[in-house]
Amino acid sequence: MSDELRELRELTAGFRTHLEVRGRGGTIGVSLRPSPAREPASDARGEAADNLKPFPTPPPVLFDEGQVMHAGRGLNALRAEIGDCQRCKLAKGRQHIVFGVGNPEANLMFVGEAPGADEDASGEPFVGAAGQLLTKMIKAMGYERSEVYICNIIKCRPPQNRNPESDEIAACERFLRQQIAIVQPRVIVALGKFAAQFLCGENTPITRLRGNLRTFHEIPVMPTYHPAFLLRDESRKGEAWSDLKQVMAMLGHMGLR
Ligand code: URA
Repeated sequence: MSDELRELRELTAGFRTHLEVRGRGGTIGVSLRPSPAREPASDARGEAADNLKPFPTPPPVLFDEGQVMHAGRGLNALRAEIGDCQRCKLAKGRQHIVFGVGNPEANLMFVGEAPGADEDASGEPFVGAAGQLLTKMIKAMGYERSEVYICNIIKCRPPQNRNPESDEIAACERFLRQQIAIVQPRVIVALGKFAAQFLCGENTPITRLRGNLRTFHEIPVMPTYHPAFLLRDESRKGEAWSDLKQVMAMLGHMGLR
């Protein structure tokens, strides 16, 4: 198959999924027009509930019954609520809680796994070698790092960068849900197995999840390889790039690029 044909097929598949996603949200009629410009980013997002705009589709229910709904309070308030978190066993080995960075009104959100040593030392997600590759991927998509929002499933570094354990994910997941509810991204890129399986709600291997659009409470989620994996196996970069091109096409069809 020629490169052009492959690209056309990927774009068509991405657009078809986008139409399905929007159709399920009941907004198929408006999705064909450019979306209204987002309100300018401001620090007010961090504090003021009354400046928050509604979700473009019926509001996703990001919280289980019984959980407290904090979305209206903004990212700063959420970070304050996390405080000097001692909710799981990772607290005792960490230097910094790595909350998230970027545009609090980003259309595009990247969710990784857990902070590594560089992130633990600096308090910022994706600043080490994998983070530098992620920054290149973001730029290749036509964005600056500051234009997107970047965070992780869990906010504290596991010892020796081991995989996150289920009790750690369980203790932290409500903060990710609240970050998503506050930022209201139009598309989420799930980086690697843990983010993809959590956001897609499946235990399918990442090799099969990647490239296949799913949703998290109506928000499109594109699972792809983690940049750390791409550093170990460069031959997979082409697949990741094709996943990101689907995301770019989808944002384009939403009138956002
Ligand atoms: N890997 C991740 O998943 N997140 C980071 O912040 C850094 C490395």
